[in-house]
Amino acid sequence: MLTHKDTNRIELECINCHTRIPLTKSVAGCPQCGENILEARYDLSLINVQEWLKAIKQRGRGLWRYFEVLPLYDPANIVSLGEGGTPLVKSRALASMLGLRNLFIKDERQGPTASFKDRQATVAISAMKEIGVDSVVVASTGNVAIAYAAYGARAGIKLWAFFPSLAPAEKMREAAVYGAEVIKITGTYDQTKEIAARYAKRQGLFLDRGIKSVAAIEAMKTMAYEIAEQLGEQLEGGQRWRSPDWFIQGVSGGMGPIGVGKGFREMYDFGLVDKMPAMGMVQSTGCAPMVEAFNRGQRIATPVEDPQTIISTLATGNPGRAYELLYDYVAKYGGHFTSASDEEAFHATRLVARNDGLSVEPATAVAFAGLFKMVREGVIKPDDVVVVNCSGHTMPVETQILGDQWQRSVDVSERAHTPLPPQEGLASAMEQIDAQVRRVVVIEDTPDAARLIRRVLQAKGAEVHLAHDGATGLQIVRQMRPDLVITDLMMPNVDGFEVIDTLKADPDLQHIPVVVITAKELTAKERARLNSQVDLLLQKGSTIDEDVIENLVDKLN
Ligand SMILES: *Cc1c(COP(=O)(O)O)cnc(C)c1O
Ligand SMILES: [Zn+2]
Repeated sequence: MLTHKDTNRIELECINCHTRIPLTKSVAGCPQCGENILEARYDLSLINVQEWLKAIKQRGRGLWRYFEVLPLYDPANIVSLGEGGTPLVKSRALASMLGLRNLFIKDERQGPTASFKDRQATVAISAMKEIGVDSVVVASTGNVAIAYAAYGARAGIKLWAFFPSLAPAEKMREAAVYGAEVIKITGTYDQTKEIAARYAKRQGLFLDRGIKSVAAIEAMKTMAYEIAEQLGEQLEGGQRWRSPDWFIQGVSGGMGPIGVGKGFREMYDFGLVDKMPAMGMVQSTGCAPMVEAFNRGQRIATPVEDPQTIISTLATGNPGRAYELLYDYVAKYGGHFTSASDEEAFHATRLVARNDGLSVEPATAVAFAGLFKMVREGVIKPDDVVVVNCSGHTMPVETQILGDQWQRSVDVSERAHTPLPPQEGLASAMEQIDAQVRRVVVIEDTPDAARLIRRVLQAKGAEVHLAHDGATGLQIVRQMRPDLVITDLMMPNVDGFEVIDTLKADPDLQHIPVVVITAKELTAKERARLNSQVDLLLQKGSTIDEDVIENLVDKLN
């Protein structure tokens, strides 16, 4: 294999003034114009492209088979867990339901940490090893931190992972399992990024630069290489590589489609593929700054200050330059920005799972919901070759192996100007409720919380009846005979405790399971009382008492 160690020829090109400089340790921006996005350029003049394709075929599965176009000088620095080389699965039932003849799913769930962030981690952590970094700070809604934590552990690089509080606790725990320092910021993802950057600066630690990181973009690019090679095999009998007509992804910061776009551009320039794919970017309706700007025909996005989605992976409110790059891509090669609501995403999850046997994470469900829309609107045509980027981070993590020091909290909400999404803890609590229940009575006096609970349960297919106080709640329970009662504790007049006492004293109603969702700090006595009467106790504040929930969940099962 020809390595960059021999040729020493990786260069960076400024995307603004096209100045080229060698890739070295200290590059932070363009020395000519100050632009801080630089793209890697490889000199393939020493390689016969056809020979190269043959050589690649002989190599092992995984993204490092494209070593000649990755930003690492010495292969000895590769930190790998067997990432990349994920299957490109042809959809059958879902495709025929949509009337698409060539729908492919790039199954990134099958990587070491179950999302395409494995790619970013292997390239970025390897590059850090090459330049001698020993600890790194990253801000993440989950998947990047988990992937960096795993690869960092393997490389002996310490990770400081900053999460917004909206990120599911499971994801924070999983990062902690790998030995990362987990810092939860009570604030938005954009605020979390700022705090992480300040922390890195103050401590003199290496900061992951996100979209401005050469390694990250180059890593995402490997999806394009794999897709071209795999589509070549599946549609062209392995005779040549080929581009899809569409690449679709759920988008937050935009790193995936930017990297994938760069990959196809490179292959096009090398003569490996003969077209550029259109790019389909799907955002969550509650946090869709790119889509909103695109619909207004604007190249600059207005940040969303207060993202309203429970899909934390897609909660980048301020996409910054990434949107400009994607906007330019779409203007030049085609594509579309669209959004899907959380409900549409839940619905899509079911359709994908039931039709094609893939259980995907909510961020991926958003991509599928967007695909459905683009097909319905005729943006995507029946004969188009479509590839959807699919991840699935659903792995729960055992709390016992961590002890209770796995998380630190920093609350910046007082200083922040924007209100916090009220539903953060509640949303993750809702996910724990069994999907089998059909008819539910919800007794909740806070309108926002009531709406959210109803929305999530309805998305799970339940029939939901709302009551805003205890007395009405009891009346509806008697009428409806539900499969489940969900109640708040603090309500005017008849409070939750009284509701539960009344239900449990009534022979006709005492069998109905009761779930308590509360923001109240419980005394030991109250807790003991609830323990004997209630099937599940969930807390909507950020102070979730894990032990209580664990206990009650065990009891339920
Ligand atoms: C990171 C991530 C996204 C968003 O990726 P960007 O390309 O950075 O916008 C979407 N889905 C999943 C599963 C992710 O892990
Ligand atoms: Zn420049």
